[in-house]
Amino acid sequence: MRIVSAIFLFVLVCVSFYGQDNDSIIIRKIFNNELSSRIAVLELKKLCKSAPKRLAGSPASIKAIELMKEIINSYHPDTLYTQEVKVIPWSRGNTENATVYFKQKKIKLHALAIGGSISTKEEGVRGRVIEVHGLEELLKIGSEKLTGKIVFFNEPMDPTIINPSTAYGIAGPQRVWGASEASGFGAKAVIVRSMTQSFDEVVHTGIMHYKDSVTRIPAISISTLEADSLSNMLKTDPATEVFFETSCSTMPLTSSYNIVAEIKGIQKPEEIITVGGHIDSWDVCEGAHDDGAGCIHASEVIRVFRELGIRPDRTVRIVIFIDEEMFQLGAAKYAESVDKKGEKIYAAFESDSGGFLPLGFGCLSSDSSFTQFMKLQKYFQPYRMTEFIKGHGEVDIAPLGKFGVPLLSLNTDKQRYFDYHHSEKDYFESVNPRELQFGCAATVSLIYLVDQLNIFGK
Ligand SMILES: [Zn+2]
Repeated sequence: MRIVSAIFLFVLVCVSFYGQDNDSIIIRKIFNNELSSRIAVLELKKLCKSAPKRLAGSPASIKAIELMKEIINSYHPDTLYTQEVKVIPWSRGNTENATVYFKQKKIKLHALAIGGSISTKEEGVRGRVIEVHGLEELLKIGSEKLTGKIVFFNEPMDPTIINPSTAYGIAGPQRVWGASEASGFGAKAVIVRSMTQSFDEVVHTGIMHYKDSVTRIPAISISTLEADSLSNMLKTDPATEVFFETSCSTMPLTSSYNIVAEIKGIQKPEEIITVGGHIDSWDVCEGAHDDGAGCIHASEVIRVFRELGIRPDRTVRIVIFIDEEMFQLGAAKYAESVDKKGEKIYAAFESDSGGFLPLGFGCLSSDSSFTQFMKLQKYFQPYRMTEFIKGHGEVDIAPLGKFGVPLLSLNTDKQRYFDYHHSEKDYFESVNPRELQFGCAATVSLIYLVDQLNIFGK
């Protein structure tokens, strides 16, 4: 009797161990494939070196879309097509000069027009400078002091906040809305401190928007080191002036594209798991972390599924979005098409946190879906990716949230992310190949598990 129970127990343990472990074995195979393959790294290099500065609507962005399509096509998806998106191109032009007039000295600054800004026209803009730390402080100062002045937004990203994205979320609105708010008080131009925690002379750009109701005024960003020196000069001599000139412009609507590629599901082809990254980048960089890495993470799902013979139950659909950086028109187009066709998106994932080492994943969903999602954590324990965060999707998949779709993201170690973000430092060599491979393995594994374990319901 004892022997019989022992055998029974042994069989039970084996069955349950194997049953649970089959997926772990596949995850291990996915990691082995990625960690011993150079493909992801070489494809990222190709994208960065052949099509850098690929802001939506630029010739480089069209070249990047063609290239990414070729890369994905070489992995043999079941379907591959582009989805037309009308985008609003913005060009920086050739002129970007800024000079501080401090006492008897003329000091040159490194400067970049902020994306979406109007130009200064040929004569440039010169004036006294009022320094503020964020939008709230601006409101307190009021029109009397601001009329005719250049407002200098100098709120740094708070270094004491552990997650740099949170610090960016707090300081970022001064870049996005500073010009509109300052214009409302009669200011004639805006200078913004770069959104980064590194101290150097590298300038970081990004998007800004004008409110309909205000007079549009030009805006530039300057580096953190030069922002600190400008601040010191203003303390020493409040009569310090700045001159700057820019020649940027917004151009008429033009056609661009999202790339869509699928592996059809064998059990439930009508249920779709969207896996995204964005192909556009700022026009001063190669867009390696933002978001070349995300495009490669996503495309690797098709390559590795094919190589390992993984046939998903649901349709796995890679979407390479255009225009994340400026107006998210690619994201809007995709969501609109999902809605029109009445498609069922089972879950949506986007990688847009750089090619850094993944710590885990984010999940923006109902509480019950998040509880389900947490069941995946144990599969990532051997790879040290157990930081599962509630409430973090990404920008391009956000519009799918209104259909109740659980939104998933790659959660990377972002301590160095803002050193590179939207600056000339975001080039291919700033991505560590092994960290990129881990990001690919994490992405492919997550998509495999969400599908196979019916994590958001059958
Ligand atoms: Zn991005």
